[in-house]
Amino acid sequence: MARQVYLDYAATTFTDPRVVEAMNPYFTRSFGNPSSIYSFSEENRRAIAEARKQVASVLGSAPEEIYFTGSGTEADNWALQGIASKNRSKGNHIITTKIEHHAILHTGQFLQKNGYDVTFLDVDAEGRVSLETLKKAVTDKTILVSVMFANNEIGTIEPIAEIGAFCRERGIYFHTDAVQATAHVPIDVKAMNIDLLSLSAHKFYGPKGVGALYIKKGVKIDNFMHGGAQERGRRASTENVAGIVGLGAAIELASSRMASASERISRLRDMLIDGVMKAVPHAKLNGAPSGERLPNNANFSFIGIEGETLLLDLDRAGIYGSTGSACSSGSLDPSHVLMAIGLSHELAHGSLRLTLGEETTEEDIQYVLSVLPGIVKERREMSPLWEDYLKSFDKGR
Ligand code: PLP
Repeated sequence: MARQVYLDYAATTFTDPRVVEAMNPYFTRSFGNPSSIYSFSEENRRAIAEARKQVASVLGSAPEEIYFTGSGTEADNWALQGIASKNRSKGNHIITTKIEHHAILHTGQFLQKNGYDVTFLDVDAEGRVSLETLKKAVTDKTILVSVMFANNEIGTIEPIAEIGAFCRERGIYFHTDAVQATAHVPIDVKAMNIDLLSLSAHKFYGPKGVGALYIKKGVKIDNFMHGGAQERGRRASTENVAGIVGLGAAIELASSRMASASERISRLRDMLIDGVMKAVPHAKLNGAPSGERLPNNANFSFIGIEGETLLLDLDRAGIYGSTGSACSSGSLDPSHVLMAIGLSHELAHGSLRLTLGEETTEEDIQYVLSVLPGIVKERREMSPLWEDYLKSFDKGR
């Protein structure tokens, strides 16, 4: 079979077989409803408590501050909508950024329709939010700041500790969408003054369809899912026991190997970036330099090329990447993140995100480097856009 190289780990990861093994009993033997008081369900209650501890120990929180949800999207919705409604009497202003995932952006737009004032902050050319810009946007009505820990498209890591310190000093709640960062880079909710944090298991080798929201003790937030008394009455619905166990096992495993994985994967990522930048003329790297980007993220723009066409060509060569985020492909609008960092429509359309992971090898990277430059060259030779670009480039010299 032809070589297959999966380079879309930011879209989702496989579930680690050890995680699947930990989950298995909760689909079959231990199927009792955790809310039932008989001893048969005791094992399930214990397993959920253990998962809560596993998450808390990675984030530096207390276990009681962890609430399991159905996804990262749900955690984001809960954080924004729950804080907005509960604190409405204090103010109606929320600050977030232009580069957030749609789970935040669309929730912000929903709140705007419901009478909230939402500011979407600009970022710099590498996708960074500046504390100065944030400070200027704050008003006496600001109740919440939500800035993602690391961007899902370009991998830029935001100055979370600085923002957290500022928000704490001003008495404004601070939420971070850490779906791409959790178990990939160190997080400490206490040291970073984070009040609320969203995460999702399928980004760190756990199952899909389970996430968590950290809510610092004392934070005033409305419930999001109304119903039974699960999650201490704050998030109703019969627990996804196997999923929660999987999330706990996955976060523990991924965190225990975080330092070594990050070193290995960032070395491969740099090899990929250097190789592409050398072999493809006029390539652009999107996002921040090495130290300030996720270890697994590379994002390029190739002027003169359509990202969708490139993806299909790569697919034929057995290479799986993405253009923009997985959630926004299928739409032909250029990525809002790439537009926010100031790219032209042409550069935004010609973007390619390659995200590495546990099974990525040096041979994979070499294979990509042996195939990608040729594809870009071929496509450019057929592209009127590339011809125009070259003419204007030559004129400019
Ligand atoms: N936030 C970010 C930054 C993401 O990358 C994603 C998924 O890609 C989400 C939120 C949504 O998470 P989930 O797929 O668990 O709903």
